[in-house]
Amino acid sequence: MSVLEIKNLHVAIEDKEILHGVDLTLKTNEVHAIMGPNGSGKSTLAAAIMGNPLYEVTEGEILLDGEDVLEMEVDERARNGLFIGAQYPMEVPGITNANFMHTAINARRPEDDKMDIRTFIEKLDKNMALLAMPEAMAERYLNEGFSGGEKKRNEILQMLMLEPTFALLDEIDSGLDIDALQVVAKGVNSMKGEDFGAMIITHYQRLLNYITPDYVHILMKGKIVKSGDASLAKRLEAEGYKGIADELGIQL
Ligand code: ADP
Ligand code: MG
Ligand code: MG
Repeated sequence: MSVLEIKNLHVAIEDKEILHGVDLTLKTNEVHAIMGPNGSGKSTLAAAIMGNPLYEVTEGEILLDGEDVLEMEVDERARNGLFIGAQYPMEVPGITNANFMHTAINARRPEDDKMDIRTFIEKLDKNMALLAMPEAMAERYLNEGFSGGEKKRNEILQMLMLEPTFALLDEIDSGLDIDALQVVAKGVNSMKGEDFGAMIITHYQRLLNYITPDYVHILMKGKIVKSGDASLAKRLEAEGYKGIADELGIQL
């Protein structure tokens, strides 16, 4: 079992504090949903865990199995099993999708245990089939000219290929039609198990109809204001964020 602990996390962007003390513990075999209104700091949380230099951790700790994540470079975080499925995936002209993934997989493996091209392609074919992605997408430049939905699907493909210990999926459902949403959910569900934990950041509860979270946390104004089980997401759908905010006396 692996544990990702976030303790009293404060994060600032350009000297403005966005997260004001977030506590959260993720374990493998668990799916946590982070929900919250726009601008509440959801993406900030994911970006800080991955080490985006724009986001400055001013207080608190992030520990992966007791190791200080904040001391790790971005690539080290990835090598140690952290993965982010970005809200706005980057386009990287000049590097093919397949090449990018093969390189990333092998960066995580020791010198004497690199994945050969044949094994890689078999695994790629299998995962692309699972996600109903056309084969040609493997040889296109990373995210270049991909539609919004294709980019999201591609983030999930990367997750399936890299097999991270913890995946942070930031609004992986936004802009997806219902078929794409189900495909994305299928990808995440196929990873579930003893060696995998996920943080699913979403604005809407609809993705959670397909991926049942073990825990739901509501982030408002840079703090987790309420945690519960999957029923909390249902309640949100019925009452909106305003219902929760009113109950807690928070001015949205
Ligand atoms: P969410 O993902 O919940 O919608 P974000 O984490 O993206 O929220 O943003 C939280 C707050 O930080 C918002 O007030 C947003 O305007 C601000 N913010 C996010 N990114 C930047 C940035 N690059 N520069 C300045 N402010 C930012
Ligand atoms: Mg947002
Ligand atoms: Mg966001």
